[in-house]
Amino acid sequence: MKRALFPGSFDPITNGHIEIIQRGLALFDEIIVGIGVNNSKQAMFSPEQRYSWIQETFAQEPRVKVHIYTGLTVEFANKVNARFILRGLRSAPDYEYERNIDLLNKYLDSSIETFYLLSSPQTSFVSSTLVKEIIRFHGHLEGLLPPHIIRDIYALYPGGKPARAESDRQ
Ligand code: ADP
Repeated sequence: MKRALFPGSFDPITNGHIEIIQRGLALFDEIIVGIGVNNSKQAMFSPEQRYSWIQETFAQEPRVKVHIYTGLTVEFANKVNARFILRGLRSAPDYEYERNIDLLNKYLDSSIETFYLLSSPQTSFVSSTLVKEIIRFHGHLEGLLPPHIIRDIYALYPGGKPARAESDRQ
């Protein structure tokens, strides 16, 4: 069984992430989406909210599982028996960033191999950061996220702007 871990913040999951997972399903038998909870990174949405959005997105796909984790990604990969890590690449800065993480992960555990998929032209401009900017400035999210997540965000933040971000609550 080829099991890959797709680690990230998914704050929130976007159509860009979803495309990488769907294409990854052609390469791997099972993909574990790992929501990394890293205290040094400010999040807008709680880990539980991010988890339920990903669960709902892949409710019809039993080969996609969702977990929340803390700590080192390679340690979590070992814990869930994933010999592979999946990541997406949008741009040259993504490459530089991913390269450093790859070297670090290899240093920590050389048995885990990371696979990269290039984003498609339709989603290469999409990022969770951009989505959060749009939410803050009351913009339209259509085409960037699945409709069920857009519906929830519009319900959470009527009028657009989040009153308090998750990061403000700590
Ligand atoms: P992280 O905080 O680890 O970068 P993200 O949730 O931002 O977590 O991203 C997780 C993974 O998804 C990363 O490999 C990132 O490059 C990739 N990714 C994010 N957005 C896109 C996109 N639009 N197309 C392809 N890959 C993407």
